[in-house]
Amino acid sequence: MTTINSVLGSLDTVDLGFTLMHEHMIVSSAGISQNYAELLGAGFMERIVNGLIKAREGGVNTIVDATTIDLGRDVNLMAEVSRRSGVNIIAITGWWLDIPRMLTGVSADQLAQLFIREIREGIAGTGIKAAVLKSASDISGVTAGDESVLRAVARAHLETKVPIMLHSYAPGQVGRQQLAVLRDEGVDLRRVKVDHSNDTTDVEYLTWLLEQGCYLGLDRYPGNNVSPLARTKTMKALIDAGYENRLLPSHDWSFVWIVAEASPMPRQAEREKRNPYGYLYLKKEVFSQLRQMGVAEATLTRLCVDNPRQFFEGP
Ligand SMILES: [Zn+2]
Repeated sequence: MTTINSVLGSLDTVDLGFTLMHEHMIVSSAGISQNYAELLGAGFMERIVNGLIKAREGGVNTIVDATTIDLGRDVNLMAEVSRRSGVNIIAITGWWLDIPRMLTGVSADQLAQLFIREIREGIAGTGIKAAVLKSASDISGVTAGDESVLRAVARAHLETKVPIMLHSYAPGQVGRQQLAVLRDEGVDLRRVKVDHSNDTTDVEYLTWLLEQGCYLGLDRYPGNNVSPLARTKTMKALIDAGYENRLLPSHDWSFVWIVAEASPMPRQAEREKRNPYGYLYLKKEVFSQLRQMGVAEATLTRLCVDNPRQFFEGP
């Protein structure tokens, strides 16, 4: 039996159920919900809770909230919406791409200690503990700042055994660099998932990643740049190639997503037009497409029930 930390306390991995491995409650910036909540729009709590209740009624049991401190992580809010909706929520630690100036003076070992505290003791004095470690690199590859976080995540993992998720840039094959750093730190890559891997249809690259032992987060639906159908065909190709036990589909969805006016990301209204199902898009759209493509029901269960459990439990 393995127990992990959810925002409401410990959770047995057999009780994870249907699990979405990369979503968000809110995507904003550090401290916004705690200080300037009006920027999140009127009724934002209700929007989150209603979205989660719909997800639970549609059969979603657990959501990993992939929001780090710099994306505006708010564990008190996560606990409240989990309580009100009945969906298990898993919090994470680590850092995304908004690495502040002051961290340049902080060593990887010092950072690792912060992440370890958030796993063992809790986040910001709440007692709410993290169950996944996250590091990020994007179009620029593994920058100096990213590398420090990545090494810290590796060291915190080696001490706590908590698994690792990597925000990655699949079109640039940045996973190759990230895995090289983790390997250098002595991490067993079977405890790692490379996220946003369905932002490419390059099956050769994705197969290379899988051959290193890691999981793939096929966690952007409907996503940008690559069509949802192309994403699903790529997933089918990987299933057919025998990798169904290491694929983790999800949406990277949030009902509250604040981006700057100048950002190339679509705004929330546009996003909701393209995805009217929220956390249920996979079940409503992708799974029916996969069934039409001949994927067995047991495989669909494996993707969202068995694989998340196995990711947390380890080999
Ligand atoms: Zn995300």
